[in-house]
Amino acid sequence: MRRRAGHFVESAELTVSTGTTYYRRAYSPHGNVFVQPAALVRGLGESLPESVHLLERTEVTSVSRTGPLRVATTRGEFSADRVLIAANAHARALGLLRDRIIAIYTYGGLTPELDQVELAKLGVLPQWGIIPAHRLGTTLRKFANRRFLVRSGDSYERELPLAQVRALLTQLYLSRYPQMASHQLEHVWGGVTAITHNGGLFFGMDRPGLFVSAGCNGSGVVRGTINGHLLAEMACGSQSVLLSDRLALKGPSWIPPEPFRQIGVRMSIALEQRQAGQEI
Ligand SMILES: Cc1cc2nc3c(=O)[nH]c(=O)nc-3n(C[C@H](O)[C@H](O)[C@H](O)COP(=O)(O)OP(=O)(O)OC[C@H]3O[C@@H](n4cnc5c(N)ncnc54)[C@H](O)[C@@H]3O)c2cc1C
Repeated sequence: MRRRAGHFVESAELTVSTGTTYYRRAYSPHGNVFVQPAALVRGLGESLPESVHLLERTEVTSVSRTGPLRVATTRGEFSADRVLIAANAHARALGLLRDRIIAIYTYGGLTPELDQVELAKLGVLPQWGIIPAHRLGTTLRKFANRRFLVRSGDSYERELPLAQVRALLTQLYLSRYPQMASHQLEHVWGGVTAITHNGGLFFGMDRPGLFVSAGCNGSGVVRGTINGHLLAEMACGSQSVLLSDRLALKGPSWIPPEPFRQIGVRMSIALEQRQAGQEI
């Protein structure tokens, strides 16, 4: 079966669809869908089979090094032959991948609900998304629920002050949509992503019985979902072509310790920001 490919969208059509003259050309992949991440996570949590017990607001504080694995949490200790860890950058707090992963914060800003006049300035499509070609660029989304989102900014290991983030996101919104009556952002927040030096994600067994998937590299919603599925497959001893393919992919490369790490990361961010240019 032949898959339908995506297509390029030129400037004139982009302006009609999205209301901005900022972009010269875009690529529209076929078959993409919008996901509301909070709704996805809540929905998954609510549709688990009865055999699965979900403990929310329960921190895992340590996992023993030998089996049967003992998992210490803020609600008591559990023991298991097999444990799966999918805590992304936070896996480091459990002693995993400390020399492979760094945490980079990025930021989102959401407008209040917009009226019909303002929504029309964001193009004729009722909802759309722009993902930057460069990983340090800016993401934009127009939602069917009448709000607009700007995502951008990067900071190493800690969150920037929210006033600074708000100013950055507002400026990016303004530069793309000077025609809006207001550039107010009702909600501004930061979130952590797990970045590796070579873009590889850690997937597999760290020690007997302990299976780990971590290192989203800033776009983990789809890859994280398939990796989670395959990790469960691996822990159950199943085999599939997809699992073999996944195991053949490269893992994250070594990252030097501090203070070299911090110096290297800050230099890379500065360099990449320059390369990203107006994508930011
Ligand atoms: C503003 C923003 C916009 C983004 N936009 C996109 C996008 O458009 N597309 C995309 O693909 N990605 C996007 N990302 C990245 C995406 O959010 C991540 O790649 C994805 O969330 C990674 O999923 P994860 O489950 O691996 O890790 P996380 O989402 O980081 O989840 C880790 C979980 O582990 C839990 N945890 C951590 N430590 C412990 C512990 N000790 N005990 C118990 N639980 C623990 C945490 O509470 C958390 O729930 C965005 C990120 C941000 C911040």
